[in-house]
Amino acid sequence: MELQDIKSMTLSEIQEAFANDKLPKFRALQVYQWLQRGAESFDEMSNVSKELREQLKGKYYISVATVEKKLVSNYDNTIKYLFSFADNCCVESVVMQYKHGYSICISTQVGCRMGCTFCATGKSGFSRNLTASEMLAQIQSAQKDLEIQISNIVLMGMGEPLDNYQQVLRFLELVSSKEGMNIGMRHISVSTCGIVDKIYDMANRKLQCTLSVSLHAPNDSLRSQTMPINKKWGVEQLLKACKYYTDTTRRRISFEYAMISGLNDSDAQAKELAGKLKGIISHVNLIPVNDVTGNHYKKSSVQRLHAFCGILEKHGITATVRRTLGSDIQASCGQLQRRYKEEVNNIESAQSN
Ligand code: SAH
Ligand code: SF4
Repeated sequence: MELQDIKSMTLSEIQEAFANDKLPKFRALQVYQWLQRGAESFDEMSNVSKELREQLKGKYYISVATVEKKLVSNYDNTIKYLFSFADNCCVESVVMQYKHGYSICISTQVGCRMGCTFCATGKSGFSRNLTASEMLAQIQSAQKDLEIQISNIVLMGMGEPLDNYQQVLRFLELVSSKEGMNIGMRHISVSTCGIVDKIYDMANRKLQCTLSVSLHAPNDSLRSQTMPINKKWGVEQLLKACKYYTDTTRRRISFEYAMISGLNDSDAQAKELAGKLKGIISHVNLIPVNDVTGNHYKKSSVQRLHAFCGILEKHGITATVRRTLGSDIQASCGQLQRRYKEEVNNIESAQSN
């Protein structure tokens, strides 16, 4: 019999499974708490009888993220992990210390099938989806290794979260459960390249997490050049979904815009973008692109970033220029660290509002 992934199960699913197997139902909460606190084996569950532990081993497995590599920045408090899972697939996570505690940027897939031309993950193709338990395991391993408590989570590592939607929803439910890590949805941010049907679904569920949309271009001809997903859902459809999201949830969306010199950073494009975002509760993050794909995308100059930002603001769109985070470990990474720090800023500014 194939072992089942018990750490991806909700408390009520474990209770139900225990009831079906004639196992003592009150044990379900104990087991759930062990799992959510990061137990890596059934034998760690010291308040669970040995007999039950043996029974559980025969039916379930526990996902673990093993530290393969750990890079600590000499410049800031950023720590990057390369984690491996049981099948040797690897993903990256980044931990950062912030004013309001520790934040982590986790991966949701091994690779990504969206193929954005500026993105290292997109270029390297897709291997598989992560399970909810593997998303949790990244947080648990980092917490254990650093002996810290994480308080903010950003789904902005490898992969497209809304292309692994069921597992991401499950992860959100587990990580925010009060018997589990109990990290509130307002401390969680989900980033997407624009999977429109899932944006509507998130809105209808009224999830309280922050939605971050990687826009990077104001119109279809430009966006389709760098982001293949745009051929399925164009800018108009995407922004319509975003408007529905903000209208339904009253939550602000943050739009990511990687500034590529000579491609998407002109005054006219800033004006066009401002026009498109009108009426959506939003915040635009302007980031100098990082050429990690060998496409020779050049970062826009600091002056250009500020000029672009000024035009957005003049047209009533709030925007921030983000500095390039030139840390030593970031340089060795595809794309991971870049954006999550800004997201943490967003979460923090939302919290202090
Ligand atoms: N798939 C999701 C989340 C992971 S990508 C998404 O696309 O939103 C995390 C962020 O990094 C996204 O905003 C993405 O557009 C951005 N990104 C990827 N490559 C980049 C690069 N070379 N320079 C700047 N930002 C990049
Ligand atoms: Fe995938 Fe996001 Fe990279 Fe695009 S930017 S390829 S959606 S990880």
